Amino acid sequence: MYTALKPILDTELQSIKDQSLWKEERVIMSPQGREITVEGKKLLNFCANNYLGFSGTDGVREASDAALAKWGFGQASVRFICGTQGIHKELEAATAKFLGMEDAILYSSCFMANVGLFQTFFGPEDAIISDELNHASIIDAVRLTKSERLIYAHMDMADLEAKLESVKDKRLKVIATDGVFSMDGHIAPLKDICDLADKYGALVMVDDAHATGVLGATGRGTPEFTGTTERIDFLTGTYGKALGGAGGAFIASHKEAVDFLRQRSRTYLFSNAMEVGTCGASLYALDYVQQHPELVKKLKDNTALFRSLMSEAGFNVAGSEHPITPIMFAEEKDAVETARKLFTEGIYVVGFSFPVVPKGKARIRVQISAAHTEEDIRFLVEKFVAVSGK
Ligand SMILES: *Cc1c(COP(=O)(O)O)cnc(C)c1O
Repeated sequence: MYTALKPILDTELQSIKDQSLWKEERVIMSPQGREITVEGKKLLNFCANNYLGFSGTDGVREASDAALAKWGFGQASVRFICGTQGIHKELEAATAKFLGMEDAILYSSCFMANVGLFQTFFGPEDAIISDELNHASIIDAVRLTKSERLIYAHMDMADLEAKLESVKDKRLKVIATDGVFSMDGHIAPLKDICDLADKYGALVMVDDAHATGVLGATGRGTPEFTGTTERIDFLTGTYGKALGGAGGAFIASHKEAVDFLRQRSRTYLFSNAMEVGTCGASLYALDYVQQHPELVKKLKDNTALFRSLMSEAGFNVAGSEHPITPIMFAEEKDAVETARKLFTEGIYVVGFSFPVVPKGKARIRVQISAAHTEEDIRFLVEKFVAVSGK
């Protein structure tokens, strides 16, 4: 009987609209890529997580086609019954090797990897200490455990230490952090986090969804960028951003930890094996990044160029070295209005205002890709200047 639910939904939906929080989904009528077609208009795309430009390219699609031709469509099984094919083992090995971790295990998404991680290892006698700006999937994953939960102020090492001190008698302590925070482009201070973890005997979990394939000299992520690879205990990441963009994810960790996940992790045991076409595309992307270091370099150069041109033009540029480059606006309405004007100028970016981001922190989150040319970046800055009247 729907009659009890409908009026509740009607009220809630109206309230979302009244608060101007309604999220309209723009329909793209082309492949994902540097250039997309929206409402019959060709636009340069600056808001995808397509950092290396793999999405929509022939290379990943052909790798996916080849994997499907070889392994067939769909296992109709979870991994431990009859869903493990050669390509799953190949991708797990390639992922662990790329990241410099002992082993890796595949999940359908990074959301599911995070959910499958904490409840497997941590119980009532343990404590999880989590950055306040961690991704929703970590927040929900941590809620599903019976562990003591502590939230530390964003990247605040003094607060993290105080929290660690307060739970030092727990059996296990784990610090959970995003490698890169998606709204601000902040890079987690993993070296300091690992130092504190050592001091207090805590484990370190990093969700590197925005950084795998992106940060570090060879794209191995935030651990490479911060020189902490050997010190990270659990590294989760996705193939759904830089490494092809379709989906699929992993946890890379110590050998015993991965063995234990295969035995006990509920989102692994009770959910279908990762789709093989995506496995093939992910293998292709991992290999390509290693064969073509110039791709990560191009992404870095594009990001640096955009940041310096925008700063020179007088914009307030937040973040640091990650291609997530928030352009900050003092007036809430200006972020959304500027994004709208840029759309008419052939540029696709999205303005975020309160309550998606804190009051007074409205922004356009520009995401740079290795697929952009230098001309694209200069065109973007020119248009920002033109529509802002700078
Ligand atoms: C995007 C993202 C996820 C979700 O990844 P999926 O593979 O799409 O589920 C998880 N964590 C972080 C930090 C993310 O940015």
